[in-house]
Amino acid sequence: MIVTRFAPSPSGRLHLGHAYSAVMARKAGDKMRLRIDDLDPGRSRDEFIQPIFDDLKWLGVAHDGEVLRESQRLDRYDDALDELAARGLVYPCFCTRSDIAAALTAPHGDPGAHYPGTCRGLPDNPDRRASTPHSWRLDAARALLEVGGLPQWVERDGTPFTANQGDLGDAILARKDAPSSYHLACVLDDADSGVTLVVRGADLRQSTPIQRLLQMLLGLPEPRYLHHRLVTFDDGRRLAKRDKAPTLQAMRDEGVDGVTLAKSLADQSLPLGFRLIEPT
Ligand code: GLU
Repeated sequence: MIVTRFAPSPSGRLHLGHAYSAVMARKAGDKMRLRIDDLDPGRSRDEFIQPIFDDLKWLGVAHDGEVLRESQRLDRYDDALDELAARGLVYPCFCTRSDIAAALTAPHGDPGAHYPGTCRGLPDNPDRRASTPHSWRLDAARALLEVGGLPQWVERDGTPFTANQGDLGDAILARKDAPSSYHLACVLDDADSGVTLVVRGADLRQSTPIQRLLQMLLGLPEPRYLHHRLVTFDDGRRLAKRDKAPTLQAMRDEGVDGVTLAKSLADQSLPLGFRLIEPT
């Protein structure tokens, strides 16, 4: 049985790109889980959660089982971080808040590939940790030694991938104001909800090497991956709020029929003015 998931972040209203992703996950899975990625206190808003349910209902995309909310699973993430810490695989990082903020505004969690390693190898200083805001980073070099090789994964069509060493860095796994990062929460959630096929946009392919590494370290099952094409405007612009990407709510208000839209998305056919691209 194939179990997929749709995992929107409640940081705004859903648009056509989200609808495509949800439809792809529904179509590829015998069961589809729904997860609310509301870990980031700076960006998630409760008021955007109910509209996610409303939009999916309008599309006729049903999920299976309980809705999982990341903000309610912090203990689970904390325990995994403790386990990695006990094994010497993470270290506290005191780089400035703005450095850390910059890393975290990377689209979906910085895989750490550009972190210069400033705090790696500092002697542990519990007093400093108690008094100074810090994050926890994965020691990627040690992690790779422990798992004995570069992470690999297989796409749904059977294509095998091996991560490049350069794609893997000392990713942030937790920070003071958010006890987990996207990468750590994502692998634990996928495993705990029995996801066997991770369906998501090809813009998230860059997250797969670090997530596979975390799965190997934590002994989690290996899912397959379907990194799907991205919906853009006809001229190739990404759907973003500043470009006035129409929300699903706006389409609904204009009288678009959600179920018909979902059917055509499932057939890879987009409304006029939009197209699908394979990001490079
Ligand atoms: N929450 C992420 C987003 O809204 C998706 C994460 C994932 O599918 O792994 O883009």
